[in-house]
Amino acid sequence: MNWFPFILITLFTFLAMEGITWLTHRFVMHGFLWYLHEDHHKPTGHKLEKNDAFFLIFAIPSWLCIMLGLQNKLYWVAAIGFGIALYGLAYFIVHEVIIHQRFKLFTRSNNSYIKTIRWAHKMHHKHLDKHEGESFGMLMVAKKYWDKVRADRSIQEAGKVNKV
Ligand SMILES: [Zn+2]
Ligand SMILES: [Zn+2]
Repeated sequence: MNWFPFILITLFTFLAMEGITWLTHRFVMHGFLWYLHEDHHKPTGHKLEKNDAFFLIFAIPSWLCIMLGLQNKLYWVAAIGFGIALYGLAYFIVHEVIIHQRFKLFTRSNNSYIKTIRWAHKMHHKHLDKHEGESFGMLMVAKKYWDKVRADRSIQEAGKVNKV
């Protein structure tokens, strides 16, 4: 079997999921399902948030695509399911681990990409209510956040040079 088209479908699904996540976050989570997302913007101190329900909302289609795709030998459907699952994993690592640090890993990273996505998401959390907002995506962020991290870095570096 030629795997190449299926790998492409998986990759394409992964990329498309960033857009789907943006739309879901902007119009569904900050829309009619705000009651599930609200505790993510106004923390209650509980270990589990109602917001975690969104993992199921993404996990169920992924699981159905993989299972039904493999059972019926519709491999492109399974490939879509794997793309959603991979995105879910990346989202989990970026949002729960790297940004919100619910598990104590990578807490002191100095990597520019990590700093940028953290900053962009911090700006998303600055807004406490349903209607306003910015930076609804996760893995791809607008240029202005990159610019801010780059500017910080050059200030930091200039500071180092001055000290020497
Ligand atoms: Zn939000
Ligand atoms: Zn968040």
